[in-house]
Amino acid sequence: MTTPNLSIEELKKRACETIDKRKKEIIDLAKQVLANPEAGFREFKTAQLVAQKFQELGIQHQGGLAVTGLKGRIPGGAGSGPTVAVIGELDSLVVTEHPHADPVTGAAHACGHHCQIGMMLGATMGLLTPEVISQLSGQIVPFAVPAEEFIEVEQRLEMRDQGKVEFLGGKQELIRLGEFDDIDIAMMCHTASDMGERKFAMGGTSNGHVVKFVRYTGVGAHAGSLPHRGVNALNAASFAIQAINSLRETHKADDTVRIHGIMTRGGAAVSAVPSDVRLEWRVRSATPNAVVENSIAVDRCFRAGALAVGAKVNITTIPGYLPMRHDTKLQDIFRRIAVDLVGESATLVMPARRNRGGSTDMGDLSHIMPSCHPYTDGAVGPGHSSEYVITDYESAVINPAKIMAMVVIDLLADGAKQAKEVKSNHRPLLTKNAYVKFQREQAEVAEFDGAA
Ligand SMILES: [Zn+2]
Ligand SMILES: [Zn+2]
Repeated sequence: MTTPNLSIEELKKRACETIDKRKKEIIDLAKQVLANPEAGFREFKTAQLVAQKFQELGIQHQGGLAVTGLKGRIPGGAGSGPTVAVIGELDSLVVTEHPHADPVTGAAHACGHHCQIGMMLGATMGLLTPEVISQLSGQIVPFAVPAEEFIEVEQRLEMRDQGKVEFLGGKQELIRLGEFDDIDIAMMCHTASDMGERKFAMGGTSNGHVVKFVRYTGVGAHAGSLPHRGVNALNAASFAIQAINSLRETHKADDTVRIHGIMTRGGAAVSAVPSDVRLEWRVRSATPNAVVENSIAVDRCFRAGALAVGAKVNITTIPGYLPMRHDTKLQDIFRRIAVDLVGESATLVMPARRNRGGSTDMGDLSHIMPSCHPYTDGAVGPGHSSEYVITDYESAVINPAKIMAMVVIDLLADGAKQAKEVKSNHRPLLTKNAYVKFQREQAEVAEFDGAA
């Protein structure tokens, strides 16, 4: 390419112009994903849409990673350098009463991930502007990743039994598979609601967690004529839930403990003593150590329920997510660009210890490489509820697409000087192998026969 070298500011301007020019197409892509919601590891239509877009954009890519993941690869035109991933999450939640829910599966984008696919593709389009990509070193990896929402635990355990996955979160599994081995820096942006005058929020942290699949086995019997012959698995579970709630006074405020779950099976017929009762439970806390302590306490409660009525309990503990650790230098690049785009007063940086209570597998990735996970405005309603909808696509898709494109330009222009600095300043908390080992050690199956 013979275009003269443009300044970094000029490159950013060109990338943003491309995004503006294709704005309607980018927003329509997000809306197409919204209209076809699919829960984790089942995002086949969504992955197909991304594959088609990669194809159209001439991006070399590989699909079927951790079942549905899709990884593009775009070499910069200015020689070798670090690789930066721009991540978008493919999956939806299941919220049957959501206005955009799939009428058959109940899947719904009640966490705004459809916007992430839009912004990831939008940022990529901006970066593919010929005069921009020709001046970037290293590589860009637009990466559509599956299964961030840790739901449908029993179905995912079946997938694990069938050998389709080992870890039940998308980025966890992609890390294990080595799909992040060739990536140096990772970034994404998540939509948020109720941000007031703010357009972007960054910093803070998230809870770590482990996940439980708990199965109580009792003895069925006629609930009217022979209840004394039965062992009531539902009573065992409800006793366990009360025991878990009684732990509340032991939770330290700084640990932001959240222990919650659902019953996915509560018996089969009202006329029979319930003999098969299943729970999916989540133990979240600010630090991995607190997660372990609270997980042990919760297991005790599950056993207490079994002991009370003499039911059997099987507790499967599943490795969950690690707390988010933003790379401060990467985050600062993001912050400066956000300030340029939307102004200082619209850009919030939360203190590192501010914990939002939720969890993300971006936390896992942030333990092994420089990562950041800011939030962009554009939604209304509480996250994960039927009221969570995107009302401002400019904020939810276009602004973050521009910022992520500009962050990549800052990182990879000028011989990838800033990317190299981010990389060399970063001290990973875990190596990939240590991460996989740590997570494998969380996995456990405990059986208790309910005998005193
Ligand atoms: Zn979510
Ligand atoms: Zn989310």
